[in-house]
Amino acid sequence: MVALVGNPSGERVESLSVTKFRTTPYTINVYDLMHRPGEMREQTVTLPVVDHMGEGLVSVPAGATIDADLRFESMHEGILVTAELATTASGVCGRCLIDIAPPVQVDFQELFAYSSDEAFDFEVHDDHVDLEPLIRDAVVLSLPFQPVCRPDCPGLDPETGERLADQPEHKPREIADPRWSALANFPASEDTSAGHPSPADREER
Ligand SMILES: [Zn+2]
Repeated sequence: MVALVGNPSGERVESLSVTKFRTTPYTINVYDLMHRPGEMREQTVTLPVVDHMGEGLVSVPAGATIDADLRFESMHEGILVTAELATTASGVCGRCLIDIAPPVQVDFQELFAYSSDEAFDFEVHDDHVDLEPLIRDAVVLSLPFQPVCRPDCPGLDPETGERLADQPEHKPREIADPRWSALANFPASEDTSAGHPSPADREER
């Protein structure tokens, strides 16, 4: 029996032919610099964040923007890109869990080669460079692994779960171990006569 297999998900199926280079806000045209070593151009762009960047307690959310100061320098082998990035992450303090929005500032430099030489990780496609993977990696790697709202955040009260930084006069209460609480009902035993007859008792006999 031959089953006719369609595309069950109904998604558009890309053909297997070579995918054409796709331009996005992260692809920058460098046609004016190509094969003109010594030429240089600076460009400032604001890039939309489409997919959130980062998986930890803080990330740069979709809908944010990244301000990128870019410098493109034409070299013999390709285009040298220098980028300074600034954006704002959002998430929670790893100690007290309040919302925080730490600023992110990171830079990188990378050569986009004309040829697909193994010595280079990135290539000029047609007359564009695609900065998306580099920007994503730089931003994600710059995010704090253990973000805090302030360096000395005291965290949460282990009893109440309240944020200790909100109660500066807070003094931790001394809590008796519940396993000892039953002993509090016994009077302290000052009278030792019960178990230990005094020497006087013995002499009276
Ligand atoms: Zn905190």
